[in-house]
Formats: sequence, structure tokens, C-alpha cells
Amino acid sequence: MKVTWNEKACCHSGNCVRTLPQVFAIENGHFVIRPENAAEDEVRAVVNACPGQALSVPAD
Ligand code: SF4
Repeated sequence: MKVTWNEKACCHSGNCVRTLPQVFAIENGHFVIRPENAAEDEVRAVVNACPGQALSVPAD
């Protein structure tokens, strides 16, 4: 599953990196997303909880 990130919409709450650090991380100043490191429903839950609605996944 691919997760896309809209940098302009991101309000940098840090929700995603706190909730699923194995998937959402800041490395060398870049935001990286590794959806394969968690179950799909866990990733979807974080995407749905993003306060800026900056994250999106393909529809079911
Ligand atoms: S949860 Fe959404 S708004 Fe918050 S840091 Fe992550 S992508 Fe940005």
C-alpha cells in the first residue's frame, strides 16, 4: 500500500511519527514513510487520524 504525503497540508503535529514510528519517521531532515513496517489497518488508522489530512492511501 502506498501512502502519499501532502507537505503543504501537514501541520507537523507529529501524530504519525509518535503513533507508528516504524512507518513514519524523520531521517536526515526528510520525512520517510515505510507502510510495509506495520499492518495495513494500523497505517490506515494513522492516515485517518492525521489532523491536517495530509496523508492519503488508496481507497479500499
Ligand atoms: S500526522 Fe499528519 S499533520 Fe501530523 S505530522 Fe503526520 S502528516 Fe503531518
